[in-house]
Amino acid sequence: MRIPLIAGNWKMFKNPDQTRSFVKQVKDQLPDAKQVETVIAAPAVDLEALINSAQGSFLKPAAENCYFEDEGAFTGETSPKVLAEMGVKYVVIGHSERREYFHETGEDVNKKAHQIFKNGMIPIICVGESLEIREKGETQSWVENQVKEAIKDLDADQVSNLVIAYEPIWAIGTGKTATADQAEEVCAHIRQVIANLYQEEVAEQTRVLYGGSVKPNNVKELMAKSNIDGGLVGGASLEPESFLQLAHYQD
Ligand code: 13P
Repeated sequence: MRIPLIAGNWKMFKNPDQTRSFVKQVKDQLPDAKQVETVIAAPAVDLEALINSAQGSFLKPAAENCYFEDEGAFTGETSPKVLAEMGVKYVVIGHSERREYFHETGEDVNKKAHQIFKNGMIPIICVGESLEIREKGETQSWVENQVKEAIKDLDADQVSNLVIAYEPIWAIGTGKTATADQAEEVCAHIRQVIANLYQEEVAEQTRVLYGGSVKPNNVKELMAKSNIDGGLVGGASLEPESFLQLAHYQD
């Protein structure tokens, strides 16, 4: 059984004080992690505050990025080894903002995925097409290539544990959600790609999230789809109230 996952991605919002205040407001009201897992991906500068304040709660801390080496002369980068030592559980990689503004390539994403597993954490791998690609009818092949690049040479056990987030770029921060059917179509395709590369049982375990203007008022419809196992949520994860509403979508 795949446990549903509601993950907030704060992007470059909040400072450590705001982080502590957010966690204080949600920590005792989150669903049991066996029912719905809840994750917040916070900026690196807020991770210590996030981890300390979330201690003893169901909330799991995630980083929004890391480098693919554990240490070295890489000015400005974040070590996956240190993230793991701090208590980070998940790392978001390949977000479309990182691919577009910081030139993260498919090869980088793959190297990061390997290094994240090596350090005992789980990657949340983002994929998704631009409006131009969708309009050309190339969404499925585009996303398929991104998935294949990202998971290259990972073993079946790793693939069954990782998380893929399908985030159509045209739906991010635009208020324009993909319809539940559009989201389901691509998430189902992602699962099929994994089944073809590995095995059906592996693909049945991999969690596939949808991201792009997920809000309390559309989460239920998205989560009702059989291949959507959760949401990667930007804007609506910033307020404690809406994050709690998302986390309790089953109620
Ligand atoms: P929004 O929920 O603000 O559209 O952001 C989606 C996203 O990019 C999550 O990673």
